[in-house]
Amino acid sequence: MPTTAISLRPTPKRAHYDAVIVGARCAGASTALLLARAGLKVLAIDRRPYGSDALSTHALMRPAVLQLSRWGLLEPLLEGGTPIVEATTFHYGDEEITIPLNAGPDLPGLIAPRRTVLDRMLVDAARKAGTEVLHDMAVGDLFADTRGRVRGVEIRGAGRAALRVSADIVVGADGIGSLVAKCCDAQLLRSGAVSAAHVYGYAPVDPGAGYHWYFRDGIAGSLIPTNDGLACIVASVPTKLFDQRFRLCHARARTEVLEALSPALAEQASRAPEDARLQAFRGVPGYIRQAYGPGWALVGDAGFFRDPITSHGISDALRDAASLAHAVLDGSAAAFAAWQQERDLFANQVLDTTDAIAGFDWTLADIGERHRRFSAVMKAEVQTLAGQPMPDRYASPTMGRPTYRAPANQDEPRAPAGVSNPGASNHYRNRMGARP
Ligand SMILES: Cc1cc2nc3c(=O)[nH]c(=O)nc-3n(C[C@H](O)[C@H](O)[C@H](O)COP(=O)(O)OP(=O)(O)OC[C@H]3O[C@@H](n4cnc5c(N)ncnc54)[C@H](O)[C@@H]3O)c2cc1C
Repeated sequence: MPTTAISLRPTPKRAHYDAVIVGARCAGASTALLLARAGLKVLAIDRRPYGSDALSTHALMRPAVLQLSRWGLLEPLLEGGTPIVEATTFHYGDEEITIPLNAGPDLPGLIAPRRTVLDRMLVDAARKAGTEVLHDMAVGDLFADTRGRVRGVEIRGAGRAALRVSADIVVGADGIGSLVAKCCDAQLLRSGAVSAAHVYGYAPVDPGAGYHWYFRDGIAGSLIPTNDGLACIVASVPTKLFDQRFRLCHARARTEVLEALSPALAEQASRAPEDARLQAFRGVPGYIRQAYGPGWALVGDAGFFRDPITSHGISDALRDAASLAHAVLDGSAAAFAAWQQERDLFANQVLDTTDAIAGFDWTLADIGERHRRFSAVMKAEVQTLAGQPMPDRYASPTMGRPTYRAPANQDEPRAPAGVSNPGASNHYRNRMGARP
């Protein structure tokens, strides 16, 4: 009797969704959560496994904690054992400045959840709201109509033929190497001039520890308390110095940097088990990409990247997920334009103030002022977020419709920049080498 191979992998339940989101971490899962809560049919796809780790030093700043609180996710994170950080200390050479973090009902302090905890929780919340989430599957390409408007994605899973799913909008939440940005030729609006490398590992820390940020000429470091009684301990240097000193042995070079910053920090790091692995990120200059086009949008690192030295990437992702959700739910061209305008306003300020620190061209006399400028940007962000209504399907004056319609921006006849006639093959050009 002939046998048929049965795939146990889940497949999309529908052929068409209101929104398909490529990438299901901070940016993707948050966007999915907000759109699904507003009643849209959403599919999110991530090529990595559910609950997997990601490169990150975990420190959330106030905008991210505020968003999690507004979405009802802060409480479960705290109940799950993520420690509250109630103070942050800046070590400028031998000088220490400790700042208590305002206690309040909405923001009891800051948190630094492991990505295995945070990303999993966002995915769980998105699923609970009705999002279909597929892990271990990659989007290999986008397809478009003859006018260049993105119409959907091709999904590739191990051992299965490519599957096409159509959508009113495809959201690229697929990180630095964004396939969606490449396929749509998203214009590069700005690129930063500096980059820093970050090498980190975990060591046991006493309960109640705060954030610690260390600076001495040309080097920086941090101690960030996270889950499981551990702190993430980071050595940060200009990429050029990383190439010179870290290439041969990350562990020794990191220890040297930590010792130069603070013998106490180096001692804390030495409490890690001998075989503990280190993670290294060589650095990527910041950039801001065009945020949307006909049938597509970018959110999170896919659209905007800034050096990790200011620990603001997750804050950016969660802020932009909410404003993108507003634009998608409104659906008008004006709403998308307003979204990009708001994103660019914050992105430019965050990039300016981050590069002023990641460039390592400061002295111990002026680094404090650079931090104050960065902090002022975050203050403005928090004020904007606190006054923002939750994304709602019927909140906009242009809404009130009984059913969702395709965003007006998708009906533009113009193809995205660089896509001359995608309709000929009905595929976007995939410059990552996947089959077009
Ligand atoms: C070393 C380092 C330290 C950092 N530390 C901090 C910090 O302390 N605090 C902070 O706020 N930020 C930090 N950041 C920044 C933060 O990690 C990012 O800003 C954040 O992860 C962006 O989230 P995202 O969802 O946009 O992208 P990502 O987290 O990169 O997720 C993108 C997802 O898309 C998936 N994907 C990609 N392509 C495809 C495809 N074709 N098909 C399906 N899935 C796909 C990937 O598998 C991935 O899971 C750090 C970054 C680095 C590199």
